Amino acid sequence: MKKIPFTKKQMEDLAEKYPTPFYIYEEAAIREAARKLIGSFSWDKGFKEYFAVKATPNPSIMTILKDEGCGTDCSSLPELLLSERTGITGEDIMFTSNDTPAEEFRKAHELGAIINLDDINHIAYLEKHAGLPPILSFRYNPGPSRQGNQIIGNPVEAKFGMTREQILDSYAIAKEKGVERFGLHTMVVSNELRTDYFIETARMLFDLAGEIREKTGAELEFINLGGGLGIPYKPEQSEVDLAAISDGIRRLYEEAVNSNKMSKVKLFMECGRYITGPHGYLVSTVRHVKDTYKRYIGLDACMANLMRPGMYGAYHHITVLGKENAPNDVECDVVGSLCENNDKFAINRQLPKINPGDIVVLHDAGAHGHAMGFNYNGKLRSAEFLLTPNGSFRMIRRAETADDYFTTLNFTK
Ligand SMILES: *Cc1c(COP(=O)(O)O)cnc(C)c1O
Repeated sequence: MKKIPFTKKQMEDLAEKYPTPFYIYEEAAIREAARKLIGSFSWDKGFKEYFAVKATPNPSIMTILKDEGCGTDCSSLPELLLSERTGITGEDIMFTSNDTPAEEFRKAHELGAIINLDDINHIAYLEKHAGLPPILSFRYNPGPSRQGNQIIGNPVEAKFGMTREQILDSYAIAKEKGVERFGLHTMVVSNELRTDYFIETARMLFDLAGEIREKTGAELEFINLGGGLGIPYKPEQSEVDLAAISDGIRRLYEEAVNSNKMSKVKLFMECGRYITGPHGYLVSTVRHVKDTYKRYIGLDACMANLMRPGMYGAYHHITVLGKENAPNDVECDVVGSLCENNDKFAINRQLPKINPGDIVVLHDAGAHGHAMGFNYNGKLRSAEFLLTPNGSFRMIRRAETADDYFTTLNFTK
């Protein structure tokens, strides 16, 4: 397990001013992850990472990643606006949405973003509502030829992307309408740790690139391999082998280029989790300890602060600050205060003996953590802090207040 980059004392001090729960993101480690990903594809001069904004939609984080050379992957109007306000525009934005409203296409087009279409019918829809941009990308769904995984589902059951016939037709249609530059995209897995899976995805896309050229004459400018690089949530798991993934993809890439199947396309990725996931922590204080048929550790954070365990049964490692070396000899469920029984961060977890007032850290919450927060049961979203390279904690989002929660309501009779 990674070493937590802050101490119990620091959290106690911070919590005096800003009560828990809150998130902490480690800037240096986020920068390092971005450098590692981009660096491992340095053989491809055009390689670009479009950070998936939905993972950690905070302008401070986006600015750090912009500084590291990343673009943004957006899928909604607010995400486009966040990008714009962070100074990320034009082809530094990849707009990959689905079931897209016209106004979002208009905004994406206005910003000069690369628009990645989810459906063949969206060509006409985009043309009608926003006009066709000079560059278009299409999202491929390989259907029964690939297995997905738990989070994203099986490709045949997934609502995303188009079939092989549809995607071939899409290039032909767009070409006829005067689009001149093209990209290809897929995203078939999420949180995947297996090297082979990513290499197979590249193989599938390079084959498809060949078929697109052959059948439609469209020449791809880039291939977006999607996001989905996994992270080791469990102590027994290890990191993805980026070097092996990159080597495998490079081999296939050179083969495809040398056999004249495709030209030297730029490779893109749009990872969220890999970049910020391991470097964000949810910090929470134990409120109550309850013994009934089981032992329950009640936190001041709940599923509204981190939904992944309740939604996917996801594992998040838990550390009790100051008890790192105590034996994990008490079995318990770690829960929040939501009136929903799936509001559990851990079930039957072996942890040290815990008392009210202990501070716990939920690991690997930096992506799809705070971002998935919700207000059910009147729960308010927490603050976010950036642990900067000089060791200070900078608030990058304040905690919601009851007034924020009420602000959309009409109290007049
Ligand atoms: C969610 C999403 C991503 C990011 O996924 P990670 O698992 O965080 O890498 C990338 N692209 C698309 C289209 C997505 O929906």
